[in-house]
Amino acid sequence: MPGLARRRLRLERVPDLATPLVTWYRSNARDLPWRRPGFGAWGTLVSEFMLQQTPVNRVIPHLDAWLERWPTPNDLAAATPADAVRQWANLGYPRRALWLHRAAVEIRDLHDGVVPRDVDALLALTGIGDYTARAVAVFAYGDRHSVVDTNTRRVLARAVDGRSQPGPPSRRDLEAMAAILPDERATAAVVNAAAMELGATVCVARNPRCGVCPLSDRCAWRAAGYPDTGDERRRQARYEGSDRQARGAVLKTLRDAGTHAVALAHVVPDWPDARQRDRAIDSLIADGLAEAVEGMLRLPS
Ligand code: SF4
Repeated sequence: MPGLARRRLRLERVPDLATPLVTWYRSNARDLPWRRPGFGAWGTLVSEFMLQQTPVNRVIPHLDAWLERWPTPNDLAAATPADAVRQWANLGYPRRALWLHRAAVEIRDLHDGVVPRDVDALLALTGIGDYTARAVAVFAYGDRHSVVDTNTRRVLARAVDGRSQPGPPSRRDLEAMAAILPDERATAAVVNAAAMELGATVCVARNPRCGVCPLSDRCAWRAAGYPDTGDERRRQARYEGSDRQARGAVLKTLRDAGTHAVALAHVVPDWPDARQRDRAIDSLIADGLAEAVEGMLRLPS
């Protein structure tokens, strides 16, 4: 049978995962800031930007500080890009700070300072991809869409497809999630959150805790005896000695300088690989994260 037809057949036969997920989530979900009532669409948007590449426990203190400083999109839009990059501190992948600042300006200028609800309008904002747009529409506004992250994909791969790890991300992930969502919007939002939470805390990549899993009696991978169907995950590139590390060191120097520019000769002068440092500086300038003016380097004005 062709792969697509097999997949369709599987989706049609998908067991009820929503009911046990909802019950489990209500008594097991972690108490995270963005799950508290009234957290708001702006808070949700900022948290999703931060969570894109950074673990939850590192995000929380930065998120609190960010929202205290800029409680609305208009507040951030009134700040400078350099302020945003400085506040981003060591969260990593600092382009997100610039994108978030640009998105805030767009929200102020195009949406009267209100984070849009419509997925297409969200997608039109700088730095917002399909996942973030759907997450805001679902978790902030309660709309009914599939929201699929890495954790959800792993749960679906195992419970529905009987695979040890998910394949590469694709639109079919959204269809697979849609197949288990109930019609009612609020419950559908809980199922989205519950699948993510299960993948983050129980159905983890290595050593899933099937003994406490609410899906254990209907999980296809478990029922098949945990076959090794191949690990298709990409390993994250090493950070130590990487260009990313060099970029981080350059940016830290600029953040520590506050509003001052730093002479190029004083930007991490003792970096072990001078060419790598220069490459990092060039790439930060190209990304709009730094500006070079008359032999000095500074955060974007
Ligand atoms: S039973 Fe085990 S493998 Fe299946 S979804 Fe639950 S934790 Fe994951």
